[in-house]
Parts: sequence; structure tokens; C-alpha cells
Amino acid sequence: MRVGIVTVGDELLSGDTENTNATWLCDRLDARGVEVRRVTTIPDDVADIARTVNEYYAEYDAVIVTGGLGPTHDDRTMEGVAAAFGRDLVEHADAVEWLDGQDGYSAADLADGTAHLPAGARLLENDSGVAPGAVVETVYVFPGVPDEMRTMFERVADEFTGTPRHAVTVEVDEPESALIDRLEELRDRFDVTVGSYPGETVRIKLTAEEAATAEKAAAWLHERVQSPE
Ligand code: ATP
Ligand code: MG
Repeated sequence: MRVGIVTVGDELLSGDTENTNATWLCDRLDARGVEVRRVTTIPDDVADIARTVNEYYAEYDAVIVTGGLGPTHDDRTMEGVAAAFGRDLVEHADAVEWLDGQDGYSAADLADGTAHLPAGARLLENDSGVAPGAVVETVYVFPGVPDEMRTMFERVADEFTGTPRHAVTVEVDEPESALIDRLEELRDRFDVTVGSYPGETVRIKLTAEEAATAEKAAAWLHERVQSPE
């Protein structure tokens, strides 16, 4: 399964908020064997949201959109998603009923349009906030607040399926450029994907369909490189 992620929010683009939602979602999806093909950050702008969601809906098996669900003027995500499908934003009966039963709910929330979802959407209840999420076809719309986003993802996590791959990391205390020949031989010998991430040491990440393949490749490499103290 291939997924595109769209994180919405002016505050992400100005650097006021770190995009931890994207990293968290990539990590969770990767663990499920789902391939994340795009992560995009766009402003709270209806046309931008509609255009991006429309494009990703056509391209990927599922799309995850986070941020901009609140009732304030700068939260335009549901409007953008509705526009992507040429649907109206309507007061959603399930959302009204759910909101009605919430502790922190006030009549003002209803007046604010909190229960408005794209026509025909499936409601996603919010366990830790008042703004509901929604699923429209294969587009999943989650809140921006990290806690709310995480619990809502967990509600539907089973709908994101794939074949988890196995990864083993080898730490190397050599310059990355010195490793080229050995990494090439490694790739010839084993059916693994090789990622090389330089920092204080170089982290070589070996990923394979079978755990044993990743382990064998890691052992082979480990014997041929300088390990950190
Ligand atoms: P609310 O219902 O509270 O208005 P919302 O869905 O409208 O939530 P936003 O208004 O976009 O979400 O953001 C709410 C909070 O979550 C803000 O503090 C924002 O900085 C944070 N946030 C939004 N998107 C992300 C993200 N991608 N990564 C981390 N934090 C985020
Ligand atoms: Mg916002």
C-alpha cells in the first residue's frame, strides 16, 4: 500500500511548529509495511488543500491529511477536502450525535460548524478533542494536535496494511566515502536495501523482506568495517 501525507498549517511553513506529525506517521506506517511516497506541507488555504488532496487521491492508495480542523477562521481543511471531491460541507448527523454526547461540548461548537464534514464522509471520533475527523473515499482527515492525531490514527490503523520489512543497523566509524566499494559488494551479495546516514558515525541501515537476510548482510558488513569504540 502506498500513501501520501499532507500536513496543513501556516505555522509549519513559518517554522513556528515542528512537523512531528509527519515523522510520527511515517514511522507508524513504515512499521506496518506501508510505503509512504510523499510528505507535503501546505498552507491553510482551501485551493491548495483541494488541489493537493485531489492529486494524491489519484496517485496513492490512501492519503492522510492532518491539521486545520478547528472552528477558527484559519482552519480550512474540511472545506478543502470537500472541494477536492466536488462535495459540499454539510452538518453530519453522526458528528452532531457524537458531539452532543461529549463532555467538553457546547452549543457554540455546533454553531461554529464543528460538526460539518464533507457530504458522504465517514465520521472519525476524536478521543481527546472536540473536532471530529473524517474519511472521504481513501482520504483520512485527522486533527493537527499531535495527541488527537495519534489516537485517531490508532482507530483506523488496521486500514493501513502492507508487508513489514526487517531492518538492521550497523554503526561505522569511517568516512562515508571510504565505504563505497564495500557497500557495493554488500548489495551484490545480499537482497537488501542499503541506507547510509552520516552523522558523528555513519549509520548503515539494511532492510530486507526476511529478517535472516538483513541479519546475514549486517554480520558480513560488521566484519569488514571499523566499529565505534
Ligand atoms: P484544533 O481543533 O485544536 O483547532 P486543528 O486540527 O485545527 O486543531 P491546528 O489548528 O492545525 O489543528 O493545530 C493545532 C495544534 O497542533 C497547534 O499547536 C499546531 O502547532 C499543532 N500542529 C498542527 N500540525 C502539526 C504537525 N504537523 N506536527 C506537529 N504539531 C502540529
Ligand atoms: Mg491551524
